[in-house]
Amino acid sequence: MSKVRVRFAPSPTGYLHVGGARTALYNWLFARHEKGDFILRIEDTDAERSTDESTTTILEALRWLGLDWDEGPEVGGPVGPYRQADRLKLYHDYAQRLLDEGKAYYCICTPEELEARRKAALAAGTSPRYDGRCRQRGNDPAGADGRGAVVRLLVGEEGTIEIADLVHGPIRFETGDLDDFILLRSDGMPTYNFAVVVDDVLMGMTHVIRGDDHISNTPRQIVLYEALDLPIPHFAHIPMILGADRSRLSKRHGATSVLAYQQMGYLPEAVVNYLARLGWSYGDQEIFTQDELVGYFSLERVGKTPAVFDPVKLEWLNGQYIKRASADRLTALLKPFWGAAGVSPEGLAGMGEDRLQRMVCLFQERARTLTELASSSRFVFDGKIERDAAAALKVLTPEAKARVRTLAAEIEALPTFTAETLETLFRTRAAALGIKLVDLAQPFRVALSGKTVSPPIFPIMELMGWNAVRRRVEEALEGEG
Ligand code: GLU
Repeated sequence: MSKVRVRFAPSPTGYLHVGGARTALYNWLFARHEKGDFILRIEDTDAERSTDESTTTILEALRWLGLDWDEGPEVGGPVGPYRQADRLKLYHDYAQRLLDEGKAYYCICTPEELEARRKAALAAGTSPRYDGRCRQRGNDPAGADGRGAVVRLLVGEEGTIEIADLVHGPIRFETGDLDDFILLRSDGMPTYNFAVVVDDVLMGMTHVIRGDDHISNTPRQIVLYEALDLPIPHFAHIPMILGADRSRLSKRHGATSVLAYQQMGYLPEAVVNYLARLGWSYGDQEIFTQDELVGYFSLERVGKTPAVFDPVKLEWLNGQYIKRASADRLTALLKPFWGAAGVSPEGLAGMGEDRLQRMVCLFQERARTLTELASSSRFVFDGKIERDAAAALKVLTPEAKARVRTLAAEIEALPTFTAETLETLFRTRAAALGIKLVDLAQPFRVALSGKTVSPPIFPIMELMGWNAVRRRVEEALEGEG
């Protein structure tokens, strides 16, 4: 078999949706598995809806996910993706070839005429399709009155088109159900079905892997390949992603933009892992390294039924990746999240890299997102914190406050202020009082963090240092309760 070549071909009319990202990922995994090429092509022929901002955010999202593409024209620096808007001449050449061979023709029916005929067909109970009125016009671009013309493909009336879909199996269409669809619009822009075929051929695509919302386009594309007498690639149509209510995944179901997950504190490898499993499986394995995904990926293991997007599972998976990530990487990623949680640049700098990393090690065990990690560790930094009033009322009883006060004096007298010396002191004191360690530790936790849940407090106290701990404890003891 020739070298595998696949592509991801987004239309730059918005952000990269998780559905699009999964399509990109499956193409990328397939290419990497097969040691083939992964091409990125921006389908920007719809000038009204396409924007450069959208292209930029799509590229940013793909880069964030680590889905690197293999070639493209040099566009000011790194290898840029192909853009259909740069390739208009090619589409015109191919349209001309079809016109010259009598396989396409100019059509001068106006939108108003077409609409009137469409309505008449509906009223008569027949399916509205182009009636072939301009077929005899052939290669004559304009009518006597010089009206703008579109180019239509002459589609035969009979025959069957069969796709041997690599996910769905054989799918049949009747050629007679297609009409003479448009290849070039009157402004010279190619339609999606035409540009995609010309590009897939010229770019040497061996496989077209895309969402199954495109299945209805595939017979038109096959008819075009046949008209151009060009080799037809393999097709794999991936089932859609649904929300919990089994309707197509949309904003109603939560964030659908890939970069929104970055902003919410997800790690790219967690998102990649989750998307890979959304419609593809490898036994019961849930967590895959990137090398494993590349090694195991195959189209045979892509399911035929739509997958349901489960944000809770994605969050769980992200927590697993946070747990496994190195402290120095997490620390670097967390800085903007701490900023957003209200930590000042001075507060961040004051902590120092080494202490930040030790702190991250304490918190990464239980955080599901970077946002959560930043906000749960916020109290370790100097400055005012938010206090959970109900927790203070419940835990910082007058009796507990008195104990905290006594203990604070004893801590002050410790020769060294480390997690170990603190723990020994707390244990000794709890034993002397005949209470559990937790009954002594919990008021300290609430005093320090304002909350009832945090990682073990002794290493946290060591990290904060006695002065910060004392200030925080005094602040809590002054409060009501
Ligand atoms: N531009 C199309 C889209 O974004 C690509 C479809 C295809 O892969 O052929 O849906």
